[in-house]
Amino acid sequence: MDITSIIESLNDAQRLAVTAPSQAMLILAGAGSGKTRVLVHRIAWQIQVGGHAAHSIMAVTFTNKAAKEMRARIEHLLNIPTHNLWIGTFHGIAHRLLRRHSKEAKLPETFQVMDSGDQLRVIKRLLNTLNLDDSKWPPREVQWYINAQKDEGIRARHSMETGDPYQRQMLIVYKAYEELCDRSGLVDFAELLLRGHELLRDNPDVLEFYQNRFQHIHVDEFQDTNTIQYAWLRLLTDGKDNLFVVGDDDQSIYGWRGAKIENIYSFQKHYPNHQVIKLEQNYRSTGNILKAANKIIANNTGRMGKELWTDAGEGEPCSLYAAFNEQDEAYFVVERIRTWINQGGSRSDTAILYRSNAQSRLFEEKLMATGTPYRVYGGLRFFDRAEIKNALAYLRLMANPDDDASFERVINTPTRGIGAKAIDDIRLIARDQSISLWTAAVALINQRNLSARATNALIGFLELIKALNQQATDLALYEKVKLVVEKSGLIGLYQKEKMDKGEEKVENLEELVNAARLFDFDQQNEEGMSELDLFLTHAALESGDSQADDYEDCVQLMTIHSAKGLEFKLVFLVGMEEGLFPSQQSVDDFVRLEEERRLCYVGMTRAMQQLYLTYAESRRLYGRESYPRPSRFLREIPSELIQEVRLRATVSRPATNIQPKHSSSISVGSYKLGQRVQHEKFGEGVVLQIEGSGAQERVQVNFKQAGVKWLMLSFAKLTTL
Ligand code: ATP
Ligand code: MG
Repeated sequence: MDITSIIESLNDAQRLAVTAPSQAMLILAGAGSGKTRVLVHRIAWQIQVGGHAAHSIMAVTFTNKAAKEMRARIEHLLNIPTHNLWIGTFHGIAHRLLRRHSKEAKLPETFQVMDSGDQLRVIKRLLNTLNLDDSKWPPREVQWYINAQKDEGIRARHSMETGDPYQRQMLIVYKAYEELCDRSGLVDFAELLLRGHELLRDNPDVLEFYQNRFQHIHVDEFQDTNTIQYAWLRLLTDGKDNLFVVGDDDQSIYGWRGAKIENIYSFQKHYPNHQVIKLEQNYRSTGNILKAANKIIANNTGRMGKELWTDAGEGEPCSLYAAFNEQDEAYFVVERIRTWINQGGSRSDTAILYRSNAQSRLFEEKLMATGTPYRVYGGLRFFDRAEIKNALAYLRLMANPDDDASFERVINTPTRGIGAKAIDDIRLIARDQSISLWTAAVALINQRNLSARATNALIGFLELIKALNQQATDLALYEKVKLVVEKSGLIGLYQKEKMDKGEEKVENLEELVNAARLFDFDQQNEEGMSELDLFLTHAALESGDSQADDYEDCVQLMTIHSAKGLEFKLVFLVGMEEGLFPSQQSVDDFVRLEEERRLCYVGMTRAMQQLYLTYAESRRLYGRESYPRPSRFLREIPSELIQEVRLRATVSRPATNIQPKHSSSISVGSYKLGQRVQHEKFGEGVVLQIEGSGAQERVQVNFKQAGVKWLMLSFAKLTTL
């Protein structure tokens, strides 16, 4: 038996963990120290050396992508197929169990799994039947409540009566929701876990079967397990020391979704014979990247404490780029990526990581403009998001009432009392007479077959579109977009969704207004199309097709949350500004701030060779202009580990890339040192330095009020005094 391949590429501590006799184990180690690698090799070891059948092993990871990769790596090490091996996410494994034991789980054989969108629709309908007002009981909030209860293992019947009217009402809804799902055989994501737990807990035969079957259970990213997931592991391993978990308390980033870092402590209590192994050598990043990440995380309290080192050499210092605004930030990042590719680097080794999804748009646009393939993970591309499509559908319908797809999309979004029956009737008329839905709707109203309520609602909708069109006539493009998102009721709709994604959707709609404001009409105008038409075409072209395929070599865009566990040679951590990262909601909350700092640590430690941190001195995001301070996390990095880079020294971009926006106030080349200037926002100041030329020309100005700033002349509204 050749075991070399399993242990040859491991250090001593890793080898110890991989080859240890069967016992409960906790591998507690920092980023990039080989935890996932240890877990994979451990499984191979158990099969190859321990003689355990693949079917006696279970491994749980955080995403399906990670599960797939883990299986491939084990197969590669052992050179055998491993379909008997259960590798998956908690949800995936729970689903499998419930399918096998639907009777014991008290589910119909044909039960259906709902994703969170389906769940929300069910909740909306339920609130309706219960005569509860959407605005007082926002469906999202109800959904959040129900899922949080389930994640804690709590059924409606278990909840204590607190006397609090809000609580009481939520419980009534929760109970009705449970009954409805049971009646219709529907299972939401949280239910998968809870029901799976109950299945094992309440059916001793089933539990015993799986306890006997799974001789070894492995969990990656253990720090982000929640209460019910840990309860699962306890049941399956009860009385045995066969749980092997790897994790990093410094990378716990899902506290806001119920993950319990305390599970690491509970593990140590519940498995008293466990062994802890710490891995301290990092194999991923260069010395400077690692030191900078270590320095930042050292500011958190209550850490379990570990320090990482590497013998990979110092590498380059982390680079810091102070962009003068968000456009400049995106130009810089994309130009750096192009340089990297020109020098032989591969696109898929490159990642742009951001705190919030709305930040992706500008990078997407710049990547597209330069023909660089890219892929956005864990979230839809900006123009593909439902709220953006809804807003665009209104605009399209205003421009062309016969646009049936747009008509269908928004006729009842937000809900305005036009029921499925009326919509079906419209479709029927349209089909029979080969006319558009809009014309069919007018015909239906004239037929007077609808109820008065439905007729009024339908008239209301048609009038709304006409009125919007009229009001928009003389407005600038961005004002048109603003009018539509507000008057269509879309902003109001998402504002009501207090929890979860509602806020993000409102922000995305504001960002759409922003996109319209910055839309460069002159540059795009080719065939005498109207500005609105051009903008809509631009949006359509930006969505869908042009995104790279799964396997194509492309630049990776994702939130820092979705980058967990991954690694890239070149990483850009963008938007390092107070209020964005750390997020506004966390700056005054100690616990949340520490989670943000862990997130920063996760982001930085994704980088193998080069890490760029960028921030903008002024940013227009969510439709607002702000002058944020650089993120506090940047100040936590010692200056010797970081080098400030300038646009001029680092990139050379064609002057045509930046179109002057305010030609009236530009007088490129007309500035002298010491010249007095006036800026719209910053007031009066004196020119200290000038660099670059043409569209690239920048000046450094010492403003009386606002202090020293670098400004790009082609953008800044500067006038000489
Ligand atoms: P994270 O905390 O980010 O999930 P991790 O601790 O799981 O990181 P891995 O992803 O397993 O770390 O490993 C990080 C990188 O280091 C990988 O590219 C892996 O192949 C490499 N690596 C790990 N251990 C060794 C080793 N002993 N020799 C060479 N390379 C190693
Ligand atoms: Mg890992």
